[in-house]
Amino acid sequence: MRIETLAVHAGGESDSETGAVSPPIHLATTFRHGPAAERVGGYEYQREGNPTNDRLCAAIAALEGGAQALTFASGMAAISTLLESLAPGSRIVIPDDCYTGLRVLCAEFLPQRGIEVLTVDMAQLEAVQAACADGIDLVWAETPSNPRMKVSDIGALARIAHAQGALLVCDNTFASPVLQQPLALGADIVMHSTTKYFGGHSDVLGGALVFARADDVHARVAHRLHIAGATLAPFSAWLTLRGCRSLPARMAMHCANAKAVAHFLSSHAAIERVNYPGLPSHPGHEIASRQMRDFGGMLSIELRGGKTAALEAAGRLRLFTNATSLGGCESLVEHRASVEGANPVSPVNLLRLSVGLEHVDDLIADLRAALA
Ligand SMILES: *Cc1c(COP(=O)(O)O)cnc(C)c1O
Repeated sequence: MRIETLAVHAGGESDSETGAVSPPIHLATTFRHGPAAERVGGYEYQREGNPTNDRLCAAIAALEGGAQALTFASGMAAISTLLESLAPGSRIVIPDDCYTGLRVLCAEFLPQRGIEVLTVDMAQLEAVQAACADGIDLVWAETPSNPRMKVSDIGALARIAHAQGALLVCDNTFASPVLQQPLALGADIVMHSTTKYFGGHSDVLGGALVFARADDVHARVAHRLHIAGATLAPFSAWLTLRGCRSLPARMAMHCANAKAVAHFLSSHAAIERVNYPGLPSHPGHEIASRQMRDFGGMLSIELRGGKTAALEAAGRLRLFTNATSLGGCESLVEHRASVEGANPVSPVNLLRLSVGLEHVDDLIADLRAALA
C-alpha cells in the first residue's frame, strides 16, 4: 500500500462496539482484570499501554515500515528513554549540527551515567569512520539537520555503524516518513518528535521510536518506558493519530511552498546563503535527491547584514510568527542563536524558517517586505 493510503487507514479500523469511524479516546488509567491479574481486554494500566495509544503506534510503525513503534510524552522523552537504556561505558556519536535538546542531554546528563559522547560532522563519512574506529555502540543521525539543514547519507552511515556492531538511529522529524524512510535505507531505529509534522497543528506534544525489528533492544526500551513512565497521554495520542491522516497531503504543500521560498531567497541581495537541500547548490543535494522523495518544509537563511539584519528581518515579518518549533500549518521564524542559551552554536546571522500552509505568494510578499 502507498503511504497516502496507509496514512489514512493505519490504526484506523472502526470501533468494534459502536462502529464509530473516528476512534474512541480511552482515558481509563486502569482496566478490570481477573482475581489473579488475568487480563480481560489485553490492558492493565495506562502507563503500560492503552488502546488509543496502540492505534497510534500501529500507524507510525506502518508509515515508517517498522516492526514496532513506541510513543512517548515528547520527542525528548523518546530520545532520553532510548539513550538512557544504554549500558554505562557505552560510546555514541552524535552530529555536530543537531537538535539542541539532544546536544544538552549529551553534554550534561549522559556523561554522568558513564556514556561517552563524540561529536562529528555526519556529512563527512571519513570523520564518522574515524570516530567509530575504537568501538562504538550507537550512531545518531539527523538528516536534514537542525538548523543548518545538513544532509547525511543514511545508507553509508548504516554500513559504518553495522561494521562496528553499533545501532544507527535516525531523527526523522524534519523529513517525516512521507519524504524519507530511514529503516528501508538501513537504520535500526527511527526517532520522531511527533510534536512537529505528525501532530501538524502546533497543539500536541509527543515523541516516537520505530524499531526495524521486534528484538531485545525494543524490549529493553519498552520496559524502560513502562517503568520510567514517559508515557503519551491518550488524548495526545488521539490528536497525533488525527494528524497522521493528513500528513502526506500537508507535506506536499509544505515542500512546494518551501521550495518556492528557497528559490526566492536564494536570489535576494540581502541573503548570503540559503540552506535548503532542494537547491542544486546545497552540498547535500545529490544525497538528498537519492534518499528523500522531496526536500521538506524547513530551511534556514544566513543574512549579509549579520545579527542586526537577522533580528530586524525577523521583527518585521508579519505572516511568519517569531516562535520556536516547526511543522504546523502556520509559518514560523526563529533566530536560533537567541534561543540556544549562554553558548549559542548557530551562526548569529541565521534565521530558521518553518514554511507553513499559507499561500506561497503571501509568504514571499511577507519575506520581500521584511528584507527590503
Ligand atoms: C522538536 C525536536 C525534537 C524534540 O522533540 P520535543 O517533542 O520538543 O521533545 C527532537 N528532534 C528534532 C529534530 C526536533 O525538531
